Amino acid sequence: MKILVATNNQHKLKEMREILGEKLELVSLKEAGISVDVEENGSTFEENSLIKARTVCSLTGLPTLADDTGLVVAALNGAPGVYSARYAGIAHNDKANREKLLKELSNVPYEKRTAYFETVISIVYPDGKEITASGKVSGRVLFEEEGSDGFGYDPMFIPDGYDKTFAELPAEVKNTISHRADALSQFVKGCL
Ligand code: IMP
Repeated sequence: MKILVATNNQHKLKEMREILGEKLELVSLKEAGISVDVEENGSTFEENSLIKARTVCSLTGLPTLADDTGLVVAALNGAPGVYSARYAGIAHNDKANREKLLKELSNVPYEKRTAYFETVISIVYPDGKEITASGKVSGRVLFEEEGSDGFGYDPMFIPDGYDKTFAELPAEVKNTISHRADALSQFVKGCL
């Protein structure tokens, strides 16, 4: 089955392809020649994921998948959460977002730096059918960035049971244990 993916984030798309393998054929907005930037004004990951999938599905008439993700930090009462992409004020500036997070956590000791990534995946079909699934991975936020792979908050996040960040671990490891892998496996169970 061919599905359009409502994202301009090539890192997310690469991970989704690696996680799904041949189970779904994902077509990017770029490959489909579509230029759209959807305003994410929902108050939950599920709302934002559905807003993206519904908007692009109604623009194109194609089955559309969207991923909304954020980092939820306990010591910050759940921030940056749904505001993860624009935490430092400018949308999609990963470096500025990471710097702000390190600053906000500067006085928080390691044992209290618990956090989780959450992803909600939605698919919306032209006939109005909608499916959503969510996934999580728990861990801790480091005191500094480590590693150069991955994207977003990966260089600061150590998943539970590991001693390396998502930006240091091989992609195959992140793509087996991540929030996105968890959400996509729930999703595939419910939809295929
Ligand atoms: P959105 O889902 O595109 O709104 O992304 C929310 C924010 O989380 C952005 O700042 C992304 O860079 C970041 N993000 C999304 N997925 C991941 C991930 O797998 N690892 C680290 N950061 C991520």
